[in-house]
Amino acid sequence: MIGDIEGKENLWVFVEQFKGVPKQVSLELIAKARMLADRFGLRVAALLIGDNVRNVSPVLINAGADDVFLLEDPLLSQYRSDFYAPVILDLIRKGKPGAVFFGATPIGRDLAPAVAALAETGCTADCIDLELTENGALLQTVPAFGGRMMAVIVTPERRPQIATVRLGVFQQAWFPEHNGRVVDISPQLTQAKFDLVEFVEESLQPSLLFSARVVVAGGAGVDSREGWELLRELAGVLQGALGGSRPALDNGWIRESQMIGHSGSTIRPDLYIAVGISGDVLHMVGVQDAKVIVAVNSDSRAPIFSNSDYGIIGDYREVIPVLINAVKKKQRS
Ligand SMILES: Cc1cc2nc3c(=O)[nH]c(=O)nc-3n(C[C@H](O)[C@H](O)[C@H](O)COP(=O)(O)OP(=O)(O)OC[C@H]3O[C@@H](n4cnc5c(N)ncnc54)[C@H](O)[C@@H]3O)c2cc1C
Repeated sequence: MIGDIEGKENLWVFVEQFKGVPKQVSLELIAKARMLADRFGLRVAALLIGDNVRNVSPVLINAGADDVFLLEDPLLSQYRSDFYAPVILDLIRKGKPGAVFFGATPIGRDLAPAVAALAETGCTADCIDLELTENGALLQTVPAFGGRMMAVIVTPERRPQIATVRLGVFQQAWFPEHNGRVVDISPQLTQAKFDLVEFVEESLQPSLLFSARVVVAGGAGVDSREGWELLRELAGVLQGALGGSRPALDNGWIRESQMIGHSGSTIRPDLYIAVGISGDVLHMVGVQDAKVIVAVNSDSRAPIFSNSDYGIIGDYREVIPVLINAVKKKQRS
């Protein structure tokens, strides 16, 4: 039963899991929901849907969930919107949450708007911040007009308020002493809308960007193979990872998983070295929590200099070899 939590606009997080391992973004969203809920005396619920996934529950409780709503059925073993969305709608009607958060993953981006449409409420995609007001309004911040301004979106009347957030925007937290409960819910499955013929697992190399303490990134200003070799060498001597801006992806110098920014990855390295990157807000939102930002740019008026801790004005073709030699020399001494 989830009836006993009715009446309060609690915060729910859809937990994406694969083979019993929750996605990092779901744990980050639970931590954020925990923070908001503590401020207003609300509960945090994790929606755990799948088959044989009960053993994920303790992780979710330690991540900050008060309730794990567990819906298990062999038909729910793989994600499919025709089953997941109505099941979540049914739960929403019973539990009446104030807000439901989804990871902005391929699944979350499919499921969140489907649930919002069924619940006849709004859905704000790719939020870079979430806040809650005293009257329960969720302030959903998203870059707007090509990143020239930040828009705060509210859903004034409809509930729940539905938002998606990308990996890395919030930080995971761990509450080993936190107590929670698992609430078993029998899913009422509706008619299938399609047949799932085959599930093909994509073999993707995990991006090193998230774990690297040092990230070297190139932008449109790095325009040659030799230039990218220099950046790769700098990343190598610093034992860091290589990333880039949108033009670097568009020009084929990096893979999608290496793009940093609003529509790419959000990272928190100790050191971020931006080379030939102008500092557009849609790039910088991806590194706003980097501890130290160093910018290398030939234009002294480049906006990135006002967002960096150290700025080197110069042509990267001259600056980067000097940095590489300096690091190597330091390592030898
Ligand atoms: C909806 C939307 C989402 C977006 N999402 C992202 C995103 O996730 N990530 C992202 O990065 N962008 C994103 N963008 C694009 C973003 O708005 C910018 O256009 C982009 O970040 C600019 O990339 P840049 O700094 O590499 O290129 P530019 O702005 O062209 O800057 C190139 C810089 O290189 C410098 N330079 C040139 N030659 C040299 C040299 N020899 N040595 C040193 N410096 C040199 C120049 O002075 C300049 O400052 C998005 C845009 C939209 C509309």
